[in-house]
Amino acid sequence: PEVICRQPTINIGLIGHVAHGKTTVVRAISGIQTTRFKCELERNITVKLGYANAKIYKCEDESCPRLLCYKSYGSGKEDNPPCDVPGFKNCKMKLLRHISFVDCPGHEILMTRMLSGATIMDGAFLLIAANESCPQPQTLEHLSAVDILKLQNLIILQNKVDIIQQDQARNQYKAIREFLKGTVAEGAPVVPISAQLNYNIDAVCEYIARIPIPKRDFVSPPRMVVIRSFDVNKPGCGIDDMKGGVVGGSIIKGVLKVNQMVELRPGILDKTADGKTICTPIYSRIMSLFAEQNKLQFAVPGGLIGVGTSMDPSLSRSDMLVGQVLGDVGTLPEVYIELKIRKIKLLRRLVGVEKKESEVQVSNLVKGEVLMLNILSMATGAQVIIARNNSAKLQLTAPVCTGIGEKVVLSRRVGGHWRLIGWGEIED
Ligand code: GDP
Ligand code: MG
Repeated sequence: PEVICRQPTINIGLIGHVAHGKTTVVRAISGIQTTRFKCELERNITVKLGYANAKIYKCEDESCPRLLCYKSYGSGKEDNPPCDVPGFKNCKMKLLRHISFVDCPGHEILMTRMLSGATIMDGAFLLIAANESCPQPQTLEHLSAVDILKLQNLIILQNKVDIIQQDQARNQYKAIREFLKGTVAEGAPVVPISAQLNYNIDAVCEYIARIPIPKRDFVSPPRMVVIRSFDVNKPGCGIDDMKGGVVGGSIIKGVLKVNQMVELRPGILDKTADGKTICTPIYSRIMSLFAEQNKLQFAVPGGLIGVGTSMDPSLSRSDMLVGQVLGDVGTLPEVYIELKIRKIKLLRRLVGVEKKESEVQVSNLVKGEVLMLNILSMATGAQVIIARNNSAKLQLTAPVCTGIGEKVVLSRRVGGHWRLIGWGEIED
């Protein structure tokens, strides 16, 4: 219970086409505006590391009217705030979920970012604007991506219902149901909302509270996927006030503790005189752990956390460590610069493109071509060295720390953008 209060324990992604309302929904639920991560604001991350955290509460009195009884606040809120429903103001509310939102960019050129975020999601809201036809290109592309990753707990938010007529909403609902058929989201709830007017957000809270917290592994050596990294020192900061590098992300297993020694891989990259990439792991001590403004003594799987370390902050500035893996010294998997992948499955058609291009079939991998790979939160270019029917050997542009069986998402450059084309898994 102490943990759920101070640290979020579940990650919910925000996916969907650009301008459909992802960021507005996060603000409606958490009170936080997530599009604020410009460079100088990042320097403030002791306060705001996660994209946004929120707490979902329910009135302790069972007779408090359904939906009104749900309420959400930012993660700084106390454990048992009073209910504000008339007639129930003497009641306390209980905390049901402490969540982190991973707000993904919906723009087509940021697809690999979306994929990095998707690897740590336990569930996601797929935003669909009610005033546009469904699906828009990135609605389909994002759904295809979470389908590949087999992400459970999807909730479809039919947003902006404030600017359409009721029958329009009903018709679109049918179109949405049709669109979801045969995907991971087939049985997902479709909730009509207006994120801007806070309409039906309490219903969204009820659905969040129904997302089961996945069974977590607290006993394995800890491993964290890095999705952000910073140098939190202000320019001109004196040497005595200097803080070590900070990494943000989610623990996928085990527990991290303040003061423990950790390793980051692949670590520092360098090239030898003959062009070979060499990686030196970063060894460092955990100086602090936090979830937004909440300081932690230890951190558990799920939720976005920040890890303050003793490493040279220039190593972690401006997201340089994104895609790396942090864990107990000596327990991390191998670093690969060449990968064999197996069980390759390609999409039948290109997704996320304009109509005429969506007729384009996805052709097999070709020797010599360059792909984009997403493995956990790492995105790297890769050249195909050997292409077989459903396996391939690839030469990576940047090394990845990963293990056998891990999923690899494949994108190909089509019409000037990286397009999702399929997936496979890492072979021995
Ligand atoms: P994102 O790109 O998916 O993050 O979309 P944003 O949350 O930034 O929203 C895009 C635009 O749609 C903004 O101008 C919002 O004010 C507007 N918007 C978001 N939600 C609603 C809504 O429920 N109703 C209306 N009318 N506009 C909305
Ligand atoms: Mg946005």
